[in-house]
Amino acid sequence: MKKGFLLVISGPSGVGKGTVLHDLMNTQTNLVYSVSATTRKKRDGEIEGVSYFYISHEEFEKMIEEDKFLEYAHVHNNYYGTPKDFVENKINEGKIVILEIDVQGAINIKKNTDNGVFIFLAPPSLTELKNRIVGRGTETDEDIKIRMHNARKELEYIKDYDYLVVNDHLNTAITSVNEIINAEKHKVFREENLDFKENDNE
Ligand code: 5GP
Repeated sequence: MKKGFLLVISGPSGVGKGTVLHDLMNTQTNLVYSVSATTRKKRDGEIEGVSYFYISHEEFEKMIEEDKFLEYAHVHNNYYGTPKDFVENKINEGKIVILEIDVQGAINIKKNTDNGVFIFLAPPSLTELKNRIVGRGTETDEDIKIRMHNARKELEYIKDYDYLVVNDHLNTAITSVNEIINAEKHKVFREENLDFKENDNE
């Protein structure tokens, strides 16, 4: 069995992480998506336990105290966190666990594990990013301002990632992420068994 690993994917809100990941989950084998907990309100079309676990501030803070998060962060005035048990169990089963998290969470994970692959998904430009967020129609004007402000700050962290993928054309971005995953799967250090059997008859 190969060792599992964490695939951390970050990028500004609206860059298309969800769409890229949805495609990956349908095409790559051995991937599991880590569903985060959040205190933000459910958007139309999102599903409890699939998109996020929607919990209150009090519940979130209790989970922090009980050390239930692998990492958590305060993003856009809400808490977001990665439940620890799920991730650890899946890595032990040899799975590639996808974490779609912000730059603060990614940096915390990078400090605490050597078993992560870090991909930053960037927009072709900030103007294009704003068009996409406005087009999504799910955020208030105030939220859009906060998300654009955060986007500018997040782009400064690209240098802390292993890979940069620009989501200009969706299919090209998906192909690039697939190629990264395939290359990472073949890293020699992930092989737990390098004993090749030799057949005596040959
Ligand atoms: P959204 O509200 O658009 O779903 O997510 C806002 C931001 O929070 C995104 O950058 C997303 O990647 C990040 N995020 C989602 N889940 C987590 C998590 O568990 N931990 C951290 N650190 N960030 C998260």
